[in-house]
Amino acid sequence: MAQNPAYQTEVPKIVLGVAAHPDDLDFGAAGTIAYWASRGARVYYLILTNGNKGSEDLSAKPEDLTELRRNEQRAAAKILGVADVFFCDYEDGCLMVSMDVKRDIARVIRKVRPDTVITMDPGMLYDVERGFINHPDHRAAGQATLDALYPLARDHMSFPELFHNEGLAPHKVATVLLTNFQQQNCYIDISDTFDKKIQALAAHASQIPGLPTVEQMMRDFAGRLGQDVGVRYAEGFIRIDIH
Ligand SMILES: [Zn+2]
Repeated sequence: MAQNPAYQTEVPKIVLGVAAHPDDLDFGAAGTIAYWASRGARVYYLILTNGNKGSEDLSAKPEDLTELRRNEQRAAAKILGVADVFFCDYEDGCLMVSMDVKRDIARVIRKVRPDTVITMDPGMLYDVERGFINHPDHRAAGQATLDALYPLARDHMSFPELFHNEGLAPHKVATVLLTNFQQQNCYIDISDTFDKKIQALAAHASQIPGLPTVEQMMRDFAGRLGQDVGVRYAEGFIRIDIH
């Protein structure tokens, strides 16, 4: 048994994952999602954009991609045991930290009433070592989600239309997990669900053509995180408990 205090064994009751694109949550958290779902957690996904721009196929049309990617996300979610997937229709590549986006997230938070929210770390801007710039939609999704859960979903006078017109009572989220590939203060053992994570990623066939390469990358990364806490494979997050 791992001794590291950052190793989390408790299983939340209701979880909401919020991300920009179909596949984001599965890259960052699918092992955790599958593990929690197998232990009785009720898990929901909210995907904010239509994911219809990220293709190298020059003949691809955005309208065809939207439905394809949604179906891929539904298939991946089913593999992981996710109860339901909500989609917004913000334009891929154009997601802003706007009040409309925050309202849409707050609406789902008030509907499903999660104790734990997983989203993308909006503070991750670039990584010199790995040579990448974090997608602006990822940053916007993370920031809008943090803003939506604190304070907007929590206060009945924020977005009063949600309360008065839609009957959605305020809700306090207790814990946030941010996907961040550079730093972690919370680790979850995904040794038993790593294969499901790969199956879920395989369901995103239009976005992940080179699955063996991705699988090896995921295996190496989960193995390194696992070493930190004495398990075979782990996923890591920045965890914030909101008091
Ligand atoms: Zn993405």
